Amino acid sequence: MCRTTLTLGLTGLALLHAGPAATWLPVVRRRLPGLAGAGDADHVALTFDDGPDPRSTPRFLAELDRLGCRATFFVVGETLARHPDLGRRTVAEGHEVAVHGWRHRNALLTRPGRVTGEIARAADLVAAVTGAEPVWYRPPYGVLSAETLTAARRRGLRPVLWTTWGRDWTRSADPDSVLATLAPGLRGGATVLLHDCDHTSAPGAWRSALGALPGLVARCRELGLRVGPLAEHGVS
Ligand SMILES: [Zn+2]
Repeated sequence: MCRTTLTLGLTGLALLHAGPAATWLPVVRRRLPGLAGAGDADHVALTFDDGPDPRSTPRFLAELDRLGCRATFFVVGETLARHPDLGRRTVAEGHEVAVHGWRHRNALLTRPGRVTGEIARAADLVAAVTGAEPVWYRPPYGVLSAETLTAARRRGLRPVLWTTWGRDWTRSADPDSVLATLAPGLRGGATVLLHDCDHTSAPGAWRSALGALPGLVARCRELGLRVGPLAEHGVS
């Protein structure tokens, strides 16, 4: 599996922009559904990447509370170090905090050996800040390498990507476009990728994801699907 995923990651090396993993994700979903985040048929996992950010993350926490939903937040270690209060609050409000690396860098452009220490450092910080051992690892840009896979597993983290996204990071996105982009993949077992800040997105792009949440949750409930964190997703 390591070799397969490494090959897939290298294939995607040309995609070094905010539209990650577009070419290899369909293959991952087909061949490695657990890595893609496929879960229980009556459940949709809601995940947010790149935070925390004091300007935007609290808005997501408030909206999720209003909607009665919990989610998984993949945080960047160096950002969590600046805002540990947000990490603690996220867990206190019933959400899951997971690892998105120490810095938001493509692993294939990072000096060999460096990512290993950074994944462990980020996981240690999540555990220290929140009091909960992180379970999941999602690499920046969805780029997995042999080193990131090995490092994640050595630290007890399970790599997971996503099955559908809203392209919420673009300048032209709005809540309707995010919902329309998500819709084809919004079915039981889906893992939804959104972003709770704009650190790697167009400025203010998080407002598109935030604005899409009521419609997203309503649509899932119309379909009879529960919405929650990866911890409740039954990832295969
Ligand atoms: Zn990211």
